[in-house]
Amino acid sequence: MVQNVITPADIESRATALLRRFYGYSSFRPMQLDIITAVTMRRDCVVLMPTGGGKSICYQIPAMMADGVAIVISPLIALMKDQVAALTANGIPAAAVNSMQSDTENREILEQLATGRIKILYISPERLLMEIDRWSTMLNISLIAVDEAHCISQWGHDFRPDYTRLARIKEIYPHVPVMALTATADRLTRTDIATQLRLRDPAVFIGSFDRPNISLRVIPNPGTKRRISFICSMIERYSRDAGIVYCISRKGAESVHNELLARGYKSVVYHAGLSVTERNSAQDKFINGEVQVVCATVAFGMGIDKSNIRWVIHNNMPGNIESYYQEIGRAGRDGVKAEAIMFYSYADVVTRQSFVDESGQQSINNEKLMRMKEFAESSVCRRRVLLSYFNETVDHDCGNCDVCLNPPERFDGTIIAQKALSAIIRTEGGAGFSMLNDILRGMARSDISAKGFDRIKTYGAGRDLSRAEWNHYLSQLIQLGLIDIAYNDNNHLKITPYGATVLRDRSSVTLARYIPEESASHAARKKKAAKAEEVLSPAERLLAELKDVRLKLARKESLPPYLVFSDKTLLEMVRIEPLDMETFSTVEGVGEKKTVKYWKPFVMAIRRFKGITEKLGTGMSAEETLLLINAGYTLQQIAEVKGIKFTTVCSHVAQLIREDRLTDFSSIITRDQYMRVMDLYKNDRDNMYTILDREMPRGLPSIALAVADFLLRHKTNDE
Ligand code: ADP
Ligand code: ZN
Repeated sequence: MVQNVITPADIESRATALLRRFYGYSSFRPMQLDIITAVTMRRDCVVLMPTGGGKSICYQIPAMMADGVAIVISPLIALMKDQVAALTANGIPAAAVNSMQSDTENREILEQLATGRIKILYISPERLLMEIDRWSTMLNISLIAVDEAHCISQWGHDFRPDYTRLARIKEIYPHVPVMALTATADRLTRTDIATQLRLRDPAVFIGSFDRPNISLRVIPNPGTKRRISFICSMIERYSRDAGIVYCISRKGAESVHNELLARGYKSVVYHAGLSVTERNSAQDKFINGEVQVVCATVAFGMGIDKSNIRWVIHNNMPGNIESYYQEIGRAGRDGVKAEAIMFYSYADVVTRQSFVDESGQQSINNEKLMRMKEFAESSVCRRRVLLSYFNETVDHDCGNCDVCLNPPERFDGTIIAQKALSAIIRTEGGAGFSMLNDILRGMARSDISAKGFDRIKTYGAGRDLSRAEWNHYLSQLIQLGLIDIAYNDNNHLKITPYGATVLRDRSSVTLARYIPEESASHAARKKKAAKAEEVLSPAERLLAELKDVRLKLARKESLPPYLVFSDKTLLEMVRIEPLDMETFSTVEGVGEKKTVKYWKPFVMAIRRFKGITEKLGTGMSAEETLLLINAGYTLQQIAEVKGIKFTTVCSHVAQLIREDRLTDFSSIITRDQYMRVMDLYKNDRDNMYTILDREMPRGLPSIALAVADFLLRHKTNDE
């Protein structure tokens, strides 16, 4: 078949129609259409977009527009199942071939490929390399997408040797467009990808790495108790959603997990020390919405596509900004508001420093740790710090980080600084962070008296401030470079030359005022308040109801809830409050297949919520039938999905034709059927239905008669 030249305008209209029909979205995000156009015009592409940026659609829509099958290579086998389920839920034929499935299953899928029914095939790199030669003769491949493309680069943090062999793709399929997709922000890796995959003059698309829906916050020096109570307050606040607590160690993850269990929360733990079965079970529970929180080490998250993670807490500071960015990025993939909170303490800096010292690339890792620390200690907009790390220029404060929301109040902290510095001098640099704090507040501690530090002049000189306040100010003195932590001397605090000068010259020191965190009791009060439903707004209550409906449906189908609908889509439902199927189908994120499948339970829940008791009217039924016909359903399918008789569907159709609302009936009744009905109508009206009953489905004749009327009405108009 000769393919006509396709123009960007054609692509735009076809792609937009598919987006609406299969995904239920009304418009593309920035760059998506450009990427789709480039691939459809058979150009190689490199796509760099943050997690949640909407990369998948960039290859899925071109796959649907082209003949043949699109191959998607991904190292994340666990994720394939999810992606295939998501596509299938939207009515797009997709499958996966990987080592998690049985040989028979894989073989069946590979056989089906040849029939051309599958439009998108997910495959692991090693499996692809096994099949690739055989395919070249038997498969019509529309495009090849290399997901997580940074895995090909030795520079990247996630290098996979199998990926380097993917260069063979271009040898075997020189004319098939190849797309490389990644969320890696690392520059070196970015340029390496195109070279390694041997792309020809690729179009490069770089999206902003900003994730404006994720708010950023750092809580300095929280004690153990406050950490837990803070985590609990997040679980309470998002009681129907989920969050992740990242910990530096397995022990840390276990301990937070146990604390949460003890308080009655549904939590799982995930780290590399568990068996594969234990890890999979934890991950499944998390994905399926059975638990509210996962306490994990960095081992968790690569295979997570859950779009309704509403918060991520770093119980400990990560070792570099790349990891931090990647980990917070697991929240809010659906674009709805999400929160990233990091607890920051010197103990973490010390631990991280020791990791760096043991690592192979000390100088680079040390540099990265310093940048992470700068972020944690920043007194300017944190998002600016984050994005500038990824070489993105930002010219305004974000308004969605703790620094922007609570700009630090400055005051003259000279006396505070002098007290701290002189305490260090008088203890001859023999005290660590926490001991110095206790000395300043004159606390009785056996190790303090043993060293004789209770007899120095500054012992108790800082009684007027609390432990938290001193923690806050001591941290700042370290950040300002007046005090240093001697990692090689038991992490004792030392005075820097600059600190010595300040003390000697009595220079003034400006500090940021300590702002007390919501105290534990305050959090507890809020927790109670959150429980009482009356403090929720009506919209929040409806959202909660819809989340319950979603969870029930998901359980019934053994699907993760976010594959039924994303949080964003539920929010849209709350905004629009659809009371019938047609309105339901206009909600962003509700495609054709999901309209049919899910409209009833959601619409009913909304009606119940609004106190609308009257039943869904029958008049509406013809409306729905029209919707389904427009969506390409046959009358038989409509009868099935709506659970009504075929003849009822036919009567809707007849009505729609009579009202001129349905004008294209070519797929509903054939010309022959029409002629036959009309023939009997004219010549043997008495026996007509008895005869036709044997020849065509009952109900079609009524449609034929409506068509006849229609033609009559329009004949005079046309001529
Ligand atoms: P990535 O692969 O880049 O991490 P996804 O492709 O998973 O991101 O998309 C993230 C979320 O954004 C998904 O829920 C997806 O359905 C949604 N999304 C993608 N494109 C659009 C769009 N044009 N309009 C609305 N939502 C979109
Ligand atoms: Zn900011």
